[in-house]
Amino acid sequence: MMSRILNAMTTATYDYLVIGGGSGGLASARRAAEFGVKVAIIEQGAWGGTCVNVGCVPKKVMFNAAAHAEYIRDHKDYGFNVEKKEFNFAKLKKARDDYIKRLNKIYAKNLENSKVDKILGHAKFTEDRCVEVNDKKYFAPHILIATGGHPTVPAIPGAEYGITSDGFFELEQLPKKAVVVGAGYIAIEIAGIFNALGSDTSMLIRHDKVLRSFDDMISTSVTTHAEESGIHIYKQTHAKNIKKQSDGLLTIETNNGEINDVDCLLWAIGRQPNTLSLGLENLTVECDKQGHIIVDEYQNTKNPNIYALGDVCGKFLLTPVAIAAGRLLAHRLFDKGKEHVKMDYSDIPTVIFSHPPVGTIGISQGEAESKYGRENIKIYHSAFTPMYFAITERKEKCHMKLVCLLPEEKVIGLHIVGLASDEMLQGFAVAVKMGATKAQFDQTVAIHPTSAEELVTMR
Ligand SMILES: Cc1cc2nc3c(=O)[nH]c(=O)nc-3n(C[C@H](O)[C@H](O)[C@H](O)COP(=O)(O)OP(=O)(O)OC[C@H]3O[C@@H](n4cnc5c(N)ncnc54)[C@H](O)[C@@H]3O)c2cc1C
Repeated sequence: MMSRILNAMTTATYDYLVIGGGSGGLASARRAAEFGVKVAIIEQGAWGGTCVNVGCVPKKVMFNAAAHAEYIRDHKDYGFNVEKKEFNFAKLKKARDDYIKRLNKIYAKNLENSKVDKILGHAKFTEDRCVEVNDKKYFAPHILIATGGHPTVPAIPGAEYGITSDGFFELEQLPKKAVVVGAGYIAIEIAGIFNALGSDTSMLIRHDKVLRSFDDMISTSVTTHAEESGIHIYKQTHAKNIKKQSDGLLTIETNNGEINDVDCLLWAIGRQPNTLSLGLENLTVECDKQGHIIVDEYQNTKNPNIYALGDVCGKFLLTPVAIAAGRLLAHRLFDKGKEHVKMDYSDIPTVIFSHPPVGTIGISQGEAESKYGRENIKIYHSAFTPMYFAITERKEKCHMKLVCLLPEEKVIGLHIVGLASDEMLQGFAVAVKMGATKAQFDQTVAIHPTSAEELVTMR
């Protein structure tokens, strides 16, 4: 009798066990519970994961703050006598942190409402179908790994003096002199925020442009916009050594000389999967060289009881991708008649909250030309100054590109850089996903006066 009670306290059994209470894990756990199965979710940090706590959500608040700083500069041109007199970073941080705490509570409550058991602590596989958290063993025939990732810090002397995107959200004050290392979307977004809010901002990039994996129009125009807005970009440059000066500020030694008096060095050089301390060595789950879990198109790992999705798999590191994959997996496992559903990873729209923002879906001109041959591709391009800037001293060009596949001119790539691209993209993404042609774009009556109308009137 005694041993049965002890056993009940030290073990528990579920139909579905989810490791990671971030975008993908939460979505999958709650959807699975709708089908009447017994579900638990394990989280070692705060509910909501990267997106809610140190990603999309606080980043967007900071992007909005930066947009205010930019608009204030235009107010005088629109007849308002308003100046930026003081910027209270601490007030903004508190409002942002309070908002996130509210979201953490909402996410926890949603789990209760969905009847998903919450387990707090670090999960580690000990054997097949078994995960241990705080000395208690949890068994399930289906276990999902949705443990996300963390920012990479380079292995150079003094790297520990820098922060990452996680540390960006802990800053209590705006840095005077910030250096962001990296050329990806997180680097350009954070540099844009620092710069707009008033930090003396530089970027260190290994090549000549930021966002090199995107269409060339995007990487060229975002690099130009960043430089025109006052960000100093050290090109072909990498950090070699970081030293603390006697006054506490940092000196960054690079292959091209020193940068002194830096009070915020931020590494934005990539992310790594959270797989190291999961106990995967005890199982048949396979990882690639960087530690990402290898899955098939149904999110199956090599182990028949274990699935993985979201950032931990290293492809399309986006919240809506993790959410969609998580929900579809729940349908496949527990929803009768949906045993074959899977995530469609094609034509995923993406926005970069740079200044100005970027919207992109489909393939780049370069990719299209090498995939289909230059003779089979037609490009439409437009560059103009949005009407918002018609009467402002500050000017910011908008660039748009349609990549079309001949002979029907199917739109296989749509790329926008400019004011409001972030809100413009979603609707056009539906058209691209449906396989719309340039002629169908043109048959759609323009909405005037907007920047978006250019996408249906390009010649
Ligand atoms: C600065 C930044 C800005 C971003 N901006 C955007 C954006 O604008 N739009 C967008 O779509 N995406 C954005 N992203 C990406 C987005 O946040 C991720 O793609 C998304 O959060 C991935 O979800 P996930 O479920 O795979 O992992 P996560 O959300 O990272 O969740 C994983 C969870 O697992 C937990 N965990 C890890 N290991 C264990 C363990 N062993 N036991 C228990 N729990 C564990 C972690 O604590 C974490 O909460 C941004 C990311 C960053 C860093």
